[in-house]
Amino acid sequence: MSTDLEQKIAREFGKSLNGAFLLPGDKGYDRGRRVWNGMIDKHPAMIAYCEDVDDVLKSVNFARTRALITAVRSGGHNVAGNSVCDGGIVIDLSRMKRIEVNASSRIARAQAGLTWGEFDRATQNHGLATTGGIVSQTGIAGLTLGGGIGWLMRRFGVTCDNLLSIKMIAADGRLMTASADENQDLFWGVRGGGGNFGIVTEFEYRLHEVGPVLAGTVYYPAAKAREILRFYRDYIAGIPDELTTMFVYMAAPHTPSLFKLFGNGPAAAIHVCYAGHLETGERVLKPLRVFGPPLKDAVRIMPYAELQSMLDSGAPPHLRNFWKSSYLKGLSDEAIDVLAAFSEGVSSPLSQVHLQHLGGQVRRVGEDETAFSHRDASCVLNIVTKWKDSRESEKHIKWTRDFEAAMRPYSTGGVYVNFLGEEGEDRVKAAYGPEKYGRLAALKNKYDPKNFFRLNQNIKPAITRYF
Ligand SMILES: Cc1cc2nc3c(=O)[nH]c(=O)nc-3n(C[C@H](O)[C@H](O)[C@H](O)COP(=O)(O)OP(=O)(O)OC[C@H]3O[C@@H](n4cnc5c(N)ncnc54)[C@H](O)[C@@H]3O)c2cc1C
Repeated sequence: MSTDLEQKIAREFGKSLNGAFLLPGDKGYDRGRRVWNGMIDKHPAMIAYCEDVDDVLKSVNFARTRALITAVRSGGHNVAGNSVCDGGIVIDLSRMKRIEVNASSRIARAQAGLTWGEFDRATQNHGLATTGGIVSQTGIAGLTLGGGIGWLMRRFGVTCDNLLSIKMIAADGRLMTASADENQDLFWGVRGGGGNFGIVTEFEYRLHEVGPVLAGTVYYPAAKAREILRFYRDYIAGIPDELTTMFVYMAAPHTPSLFKLFGNGPAAAIHVCYAGHLETGERVLKPLRVFGPPLKDAVRIMPYAELQSMLDSGAPPHLRNFWKSSYLKGLSDEAIDVLAAFSEGVSSPLSQVHLQHLGGQVRRVGEDETAFSHRDASCVLNIVTKWKDSRESEKHIKWTRDFEAAMRPYSTGGVYVNFLGEEGEDRVKAAYGPEKYGRLAALKNKYDPKNFFRLNQNIKPAITRYF
């Protein structure tokens, strides 16, 4: 905010909002500019905390007419840090948390500011749920718009497969609805295409009956990582859709009970969620619970909402995070050897290596049905590197990059858009493949030709006109 006049105009705009409005120097500004990833240290010129759709609309119009760089934030969890900006405006929807659950039609209408913890609590009150993220503080908005993988995906598809409609404010201030009946092209694009087309204020989801699940973690000695991964590969080849699993290599435990088991050393683990008939689940999970044998079997029947916060302690806010992700073709012996060797050389005790098994209903939805892509991949690898001390950044970033490069021969070449950092245009293209990227660019031309919404994994309109 360079001049007194600009400050005055901004303050006047702030007063017109129902929600709070912060300029640099205001109380709460420094907290307000922080996002989940502690690597991100940006200084927006203003932060507009929207209370309602009207606030979002006013903020879009204010930003557009003043050509402000515009960041859109809901849960603030994106690792790339695009939901905050230097200069410009942050349009923050985190206070828009209304949710209506219609138990008889099994539909939830949810405002964009909800987290998965809040969403799950509301739907589980009715014994219902839909596929959501595996950490409860993650925002429903960014996750849904990028696709959404989680514990229920093999049974019910990814999150955006359960989307029935959205309400959106486009770059020109138009209020739009998109669904299977209305603005179908936009509806295709927002199911995987991220925040490229406008600000979504409300999501309508299909819900499913989800009672208690058989879930938790089986822990194994990290030294047996190769053996466990080979077992895991063969095991997941034959599991039913009710079961979703994830292999994790933890550089060090992050809870006192795990510390007792592993001391300061690494651990290998398989997280599971069986969402179906519980007795069948016991039978299906048995091989995994006896293999090794495990050091600890922490699988039990639990409420779904409890599972949904089980991994929260491993993902605290404000640590430095640098991630690299890719879809894998499969788990060959060579891929396993490379994965295990790099995991064993992990550079930070806070880091984890995640391998999430896909398939089931994720694969059954047609590749062309949504912008969300790479449905035929068997697993998604995410190298989740975390540390505290900025002086160590180079070392940890190098380990992550080297790991990802070594895994490239086993990757499909595709990447999940929601796990991307600031990795450039080619990686955004890799998230969709050339054909779908072209279709998304055509949509961008139609709904945001000036690329007003460009702080995201950006789909470039064919001709970019910056104001
Ligand atoms: C700890 C952790 C756990 C995660 N777990 C999972 C998981 O289980 N499954 C999974 O699929 N992903 C997961 N992710 C990735 C997650 O999907 C993305 O980080 C997602 O962007 C988070 O959404 P958000 O609303 O919190 O993000 P924000 O940082 O608020 O937003 C991210 C981007 O989304 C867009 N956006 C946000 N809100 C809106 C809106 N209302 N309208 C239009 N565009 C908007 C903007 O472009 C913004 O830059 C996880 C991330 C973290 C950090």
